[in-house]
Amino acid sequence: MKVHEYQGKEILRKFGVTTPDGRVAFTVDEAVAAAEELGGSIWVVKAQIHAGGRGKGGGVKLARSIEEVREHSEAILGMQLVTHQTGPGGQKVRRLYIEEGCDIARELYVGMLLDRANGRLVVMASTEGGMDIEKVAEETPELIHKVWIDPAVGFGDYQARQLCFALGLSEKKQLRAASKFLRGLYDAYMQYDCSLAEINPLVVTGSGDVICLDAKLNFDDNALYRHPDVVAMRDLDEEDPSEVEAGEYGLSFIKLDGNIGCLVNGAGLAMATMDTIKLFGGDPANFLDVGGGATAEKVAAAFGIITSDPAVKAIFVNIFGGIMKCDVIAEGVITAVKTTGLEVPLVVRLQGTNAVQGKAMLAESGLNIIAVETMADGAKAAVAAVGA
Ligand code: ADP
Ligand code: MG
Repeated sequence: MKVHEYQGKEILRKFGVTTPDGRVAFTVDEAVAAAEELGGSIWVVKAQIHAGGRGKGGGVKLARSIEEVREHSEAILGMQLVTHQTGPGGQKVRRLYIEEGCDIARELYVGMLLDRANGRLVVMASTEGGMDIEKVAEETPELIHKVWIDPAVGFGDYQARQLCFALGLSEKKQLRAASKFLRGLYDAYMQYDCSLAEINPLVVTGSGDVICLDAKLNFDDNALYRHPDVVAMRDLDEEDPSEVEAGEYGLSFIKLDGNIGCLVNGAGLAMATMDTIKLFGGDPANFLDVGGGATAEKVAAAFGIITSDPAVKAIFVNIFGGIMKCDVIAEGVITAVKTTGLEVPLVVRLQGTNAVQGKAMLAESGLNIIAVETMADGAKAAVAAVGA
């Protein structure tokens, strides 16, 4: 799960991380009121979307008067903000963050995530912070310093200091401030079961303070039950609606770019199905695992999510019945088609538990189904159906 910058900063402040003061705003008037409440003479109007690169896309603007806060807020709120992380369609801006302007002397980068190859958290730091860290990683990776955290020992003070020195923060006051920041970031990461924390930029101000200016926190979905305060921060407007609906039914669903909808049981079979479709020249429209113990209702919901996607031009139901019974799948599919109709070719392969019953139910239903015996035949039929 992702949260907005202002929410990430809210969490980090609890761990002693220094950030500029700021207020969230849902309307232009709220943005103006927020700036007045913050006081001062320079503010930054920041689009809140679940994507980085907002500055380059025109979603972060400096304002030197209340009138400018109003102008920038009017321009940014409601805009379709396109960044390198949103894709060409962009993301609509529905919230703003009004923040005190900060006198930036240097922009640094700090990131923390699980390094799967080492089975350890890695903390990365670079003096080349700001808006182009992806370019730095690609062209001059030696400018990104890394330390790995031993899970039995935790994040050592010496490791924090190593990173501070690499960032050029060896002066006593800055060393103390930056170490405290790294400690706070690590504690937040651990206590909140994060899967990623990225501060870009961490800045050194003109007066030498170390301040967190941007915050990206992602959370491990499997640990969300431990963090109701994080769940309360969820912004469904930022998520794909079909994925949200699938989540409500407990389905593992990820929308993809292709046009063959897949309804499969088991993550492994789902991956194999997608690969097989690709092998025969097609493109899957989604990953969908209905799971082992799905009810007919859940199957119907899954089917409905697939058929409601206008990009789907054919559907391939590929089931290997084990715990999941093929007749339950057939019942779900029939129910779904009765309520929502079916306008695209439907290829069905049922094998395993109760396959005979499932096939008979589908045959008797009068639905226009292309029944196949093997996964390869199913993928070929689906690809042929979309004319690929
Ligand atoms: P993004 O990473 O999505 O582009 P950031 O929050 O990093 O968004 O903002 C982009 C840039 O805007 C920063 O690198 C920084 O130069 C500037 N900026 C952001 N917040 C402030 C602030 N409070 N005061 C001054 N400049 C800021
Ligand atoms: Mg940033």
